[in-house]
Amino acid sequence: MPGFCSNTDWQKAVDAVRNSRRIVVFSGAGISAESGIATFRDEGGFWQKFPPEDFANWQGIAQVALFQPRRLAEFLIAVLEPIASAVPNAAHQSVAALQQTHDVAVVTQNIDGLHQEAGSQTVRELHGSLLRVTTSGHPPQKESLTREQLAAIVRDMKNLTGDWLWTPQLLKIVHPLLHVGASGFRRPDVVLFGDALAEPDWSQAEQDVHDCDLLITVGTSGLVYPAALLPEMARERRVPIIGVDPLTPCGDIYLCGKAATVLSELVAASGQNVT
Ligand code: NAD
Repeated sequence: MPGFCSNTDWQKAVDAVRNSRRIVVFSGAGISAESGIATFRDEGGFWQKFPPEDFANWQGIAQVALFQPRRLAEFLIAVLEPIASAVPNAAHQSVAALQQTHDVAVVTQNIDGLHQEAGSQTVRELHGSLLRVTTSGHPPQKESLTREQLAAIVRDMKNLTGDWLWTPQLLKIVHPLLHVGASGFRRPDVVLFGDALAEPDWSQAEQDVHDCDLLITVGTSGLVYPAALLPEMARERRVPIIGVDPLTPCGDIYLCGKAATVLSELVAASGQNVT
């Protein structure tokens, strides 16, 4: 019996997994915390250093780029560095292992690509991915970026010295990621405040929730809409919801603990091998 939750909830959670066929795993920043990527809202979280008014919308970012290029570099280093070096943790691996016995759709708010890297086959990225760039044209052109490319951008930004040549050098370094040119505006394929959610991922996620018989929500404060509507939709359909989070009680069956521990034990107890 694990030490992180009451007996009743634990057994209910194991039974819910065993008795389900189609599971939606709805994940947020907390599932990647143990891969070294900080969440945004926790104490010492990202938004405390980089206020969302300036850094969570394209207009704010453009202003910072124009008037405070060093601040833009600090922001990009803070966002890219942990994702460039991250590897999936036991929580991502456990979610992937669930596919051995269930139909699993992962609906993630994360932009770090770790569910796919752990082997999950069906992943809806509601907020896009930092491992992709998109152009402003119609239709937009999408291109993948590797973690190595992100790491190279971070390394070059950290090596920037001097003063008056700083901005042109910075623009050259971030060129693979952020660029205005003859072919339009190229930028990371992520959704910021005020943007529409990524399609077709959002519509597919709604369908997944409509079809599922269990929803597991992991590591999300549930404050970001419209993504947070998905558990509400599941609740309206009377689908059982298991919530995994060390701090934020959630779900009808709440497992209070860190994602890597809780999901490894839950998946093992319900009969799957995590490889
Ligand atoms: P959030 O920061 O609002 O909430 C994080 C939640 O994770 C909290 O409830 C916290 O208690 C919980 N948590 C912390 N450590 C955990 C652990 N080890 N195991 C399980 N849970 C843990 O995150 P959110 O709800 O995802 O919303 C933030 C937005 O920022 C999302 O839209 C996401 O796109 C973005 N974001 C993404 C990443 C990433 O890609 N890894 C990281 C930070 C933020």
